[in-house]
Amino acid sequence: MRRQRNVKIVATLGPASSTYDVIRTLHEAGADVFRLNMSHGRHEEIEERHKIIRQVEKDLDSPIAILADLQGPKLRVGTFANGAEELVDGARFRLDLDPTEGDMNRVCLPHKEIFAALKCSARLLVNDGKIRLKVLEYGEDFANCEVTVGGIISNRKGVNVPDVVLPLAALSEKDCADLEFACALGVDWLALSFIQRPADVYEARSLVDGRAAILSKIEKPAAIEHFSEILDASDGIMVARGDLGVELPVHAVPPIQKRLVRKCRAAAKPVIIATQMLESMIESPMPTRAEVSDVATAIYEGTDAIMLSAESAAGSFPVEAVNTMNNVAIEVEADPTYEQIIAASRGGRQSSIADGIVAAAREIAETTEVKAICCFTQSGTTAHLIARERPGVPIIALTNMRQTVRQLVLSWGTYCVMTGTLDRFKMAVINAVRAARAGGFATESDQIVVIAGVPFNIPGTTNILRVASCDERLIQSMDPR
Ligand code: PEP
Repeated sequence: MRRQRNVKIVATLGPASSTYDVIRTLHEAGADVFRLNMSHGRHEEIEERHKIIRQVEKDLDSPIAILADLQGPKLRVGTFANGAEELVDGARFRLDLDPTEGDMNRVCLPHKEIFAALKCSARLLVNDGKIRLKVLEYGEDFANCEVTVGGIISNRKGVNVPDVVLPLAALSEKDCADLEFACALGVDWLALSFIQRPADVYEARSLVDGRAAILSKIEKPAAIEHFSEILDASDGIMVARGDLGVELPVHAVPPIQKRLVRKCRAAAKPVIIATQMLESMIESPMPTRAEVSDVATAIYEGTDAIMLSAESAAGSFPVEAVNTMNNVAIEVEADPTYEQIIAASRGGRQSSIADGIVAAAREIAETTEVKAICCFTQSGTTAHLIARERPGVPIIALTNMRQTVRQLVLSWGTYCVMTGTLDRFKMAVINAVRAARAGGFATESDQIVVIAGVPFNIPGTTNILRVASCDERLIQSMDPR
């Protein structure tokens, strides 16, 4: 589906958005990627949503990317005899391995490996940091803590331990089962939660075995520390501001967001800005001005995608939330300042032939009236390189790989089309012209830029740039090579 903007919208599905009608309306309103959150929902529910998305994709003849988000090694306390307890400032509270129900003095933290990794004064943040505990003493099966910020603690609340690198496997047993399930369904992207080191990404990659692209969620201080290597190991990144703002002071998140977006763009890998973008729209049809500004800031920074979580999964106004993001994106991208910021934040020249060709394509688009940059790609790499340039015209990616079409939906400004297998450049040009005209990007009197690698079907051979007329009679008379 052709959009009037370059930034992509990711919408999380949940109870508020699980029917065919809602999912179709969300896609028509602007949701390009649907996120299936493996932390919530049974496999049957997730399978049903996956099936509906593919049906919408077929009915509207519009590629949709599906992102399955694994829960990761999220720590949670056990349950309380009363369901909840109030912890007061200055009180003592014990975490241990005893599975019996908790009370106002203790509760189970059923993660043995945590106690061994603790240190005195380490902070334990419960329920998104609303309750704060400080470790006073600990042993191999307990930690006695002081309540530094009190509040209500209830069953199965999450616990963050920002001060220590946790000796946790990147993938829990549940994650491994969810990963297999999601890959068997045929999702396009798989998001990894709470990764701490590049090895976590490599471990998941070996299990995924090419069945989906890997998106690393950055939500732990250790992941920020190892970001460059994690980026190298990943196909894309999510700035998961929810947990990141618990593990780090919230005021540290905006500069990190800016830095990570720039690094991802320089590496030509898509990046998503996630969490609380339009939080008030869970209950209100109108966003706050600050939320609109947050969405706009992420777009000005040049992110590939912006994400809705509870707003579209469990809120009362999922379609309005997508409409809001869509409208903000159209407005921001029409602002001349946006173009200036995007141009100013373009990284230095890279050294490969493909880098030179995509930069030349962008310069041609800036200095002439060409209507689109079309590329032929198998793995999606050439399209990512063009997206890195953030050109002022649409990017049309043609590929014979269904998985590549869908994965590229997440990339900034990229419109993806399935094409047959090619063996001659002339056929590539004809296919590109037809795709540009069919998509409404160009008319017979226009010109487009076509980029390809010849011989075809060998990754990494991008070596041709041609400015082609969209008049089919002229193309037909072209040299057949
Ligand atoms: C986040 O913490 O920002 C995030 C996206 O993760 P989740 O919603 O899976 O907790």
